[in-house]
Amino acid sequence: MLYKSTRDPSGARYTSAEVVKRGIADDGGLYLPESIPTLAKDEIDKLRHVPYHERAAHILTKFLTDYSFEELLDDCRAAYRPESFPGGPAPLARLDDRLFSLELWHGPTAAFKDMALQLMPRLLTRALKKTGERRAAHILVATSGDTGKAALEGFRDIDQTRITVFYPENGVSLVQKLQMATQTGGNVDVCAVRGNFDDCQNGVKQLFSDSELALELDRRGAFLSSANSINWGRLVPQVVYYVSLYCELQNCGALRAGDRFCVCVPTGNFGNILAAYIAGLMGVPIKKLICASNLNNVLTDFLRTGRYERNRTFHKTMSPSMDILISSNLERLLYYIAGADKTREYTAKLAKTGSYLIAGEEKDKISESFIGYFADETETTAAIQDIFKKYGYLCDTHTAVAFSCAEKYRRETGDRSIIAVVSTASPYKFAGDVYRAMTGSAPAGELEAFDQLHSLTGRPIPSPLAGIGSRPIRFTTTVAREEMKNYILK
Ligand SMILES: *Cc1c(COP(=O)(O)O)cnc(C)c1O
Repeated sequence: MLYKSTRDPSGARYTSAEVVKRGIADDGGLYLPESIPTLAKDEIDKLRHVPYHERAAHILTKFLTDYSFEELLDDCRAAYRPESFPGGPAPLARLDDRLFSLELWHGPTAAFKDMALQLMPRLLTRALKKTGERRAAHILVATSGDTGKAALEGFRDIDQTRITVFYPENGVSLVQKLQMATQTGGNVDVCAVRGNFDDCQNGVKQLFSDSELALELDRRGAFLSSANSINWGRLVPQVVYYVSLYCELQNCGALRAGDRFCVCVPTGNFGNILAAYIAGLMGVPIKKLICASNLNNVLTDFLRTGRYERNRTFHKTMSPSMDILISSNLERLLYYIAGADKTREYTAKLAKTGSYLIAGEEKDKISESFIGYFADETETTAAIQDIFKKYGYLCDTHTAVAFSCAEKYRRETGDRSIIAVVSTASPYKFAGDVYRAMTGSAPAGELEAFDQLHSLTGRPIPSPLAGIGSRPIRFTTTVAREEMKNYILK
């Protein structure tokens, strides 16, 4: 299986190992496989009866053809081991006969990014070996919260890699800060930057384009690399849990083989829902992909009108991982429905004017698979309360956006198919806001909110979050944006 760039109409092709190592194409486009492999019915029947890591290796081996099945099986077994995912990697909770919650937050950081980031670093190390790369990959991350911690946990003590995470000094929650500052591992580094997330991200972008830094790192046997969600090595592990979902829905008797169902995905950068789309292309019978947004509803508008318009007010919401106005992975969908030439045209328009319009057949094609809804802050709060009242099920703020949107979909379309809501974070990851939503009053403090929410609901606190206030702090450095380069070199 070879890969191409979304912006390149020529015949250039890359191997899977190159694609995992390079992350983004030289023309600025994103990598996609030349064709989508399919899953036969008897293959799915077999997958129904094997553990998650075997399902993962089976799917990955179709895409990552430079890797042997044994290599992938070893990596998947290590990534999804019970010590890292005590509740299992992607358990399915049944709320009623037609409403399910696919819980993707049982990993080391209590958010769904672990599903990809526990595996991707292992794929990267192998890619380095396979492409004859002797230097170490030095991963740079600018984070507004969740990604930083998940990347640290994923790259911790992984061969031939080193990772530095920069976060805005006053731009992350206390829990997120503690999660990062207490990170263990011999190859990890965490540093606060004075300023906001943009300062931090622009600082990292500058480091990536600094040829002097690249030369110096090369001299020391390293090169800079990124772990962000446009890397195919992060996307392909996400396809797996949609296949796994289809297996589990059959295993619990909710669905017969071939029956169609809907998934509702709390969406930011469009990576998670794109993985569901790809699972659909492989043969998972997904009827509709319900794209759930918060007040930053640029995708809802796009899916309804065909116009992508990023020139709009940015809202800070209680589902911060979805506070995004440019959804990078949407480019991959554009490629599938419009091809490389049009994708290049749309992305150039977006960069220049902040908007573009798709129409006609292209728009119809998108509407066949996707439908968009959004939930405002009041609706999100109401969903947290309602879902708990109705089903005794506690969900986080991002998942609540999706529950609210799933309900809107039912009401608007009258569709009575099964809906699997994708649950992207533990309610305790955003304990303060969840407590506020449940009670209407503020918790005594961000850390106190764990116990308060626990007394209120009886739901267990995930072990990676319990006791976070008493772990030793390892990283305390804060630098100005101009000092980031020196920090790396030191
Ligand atoms: C990253 C994240 C999302 C958004 O996922 P995308 O793949 O960027 O669409 C949703 N919820 C949580 C909790 C996240 O961390």
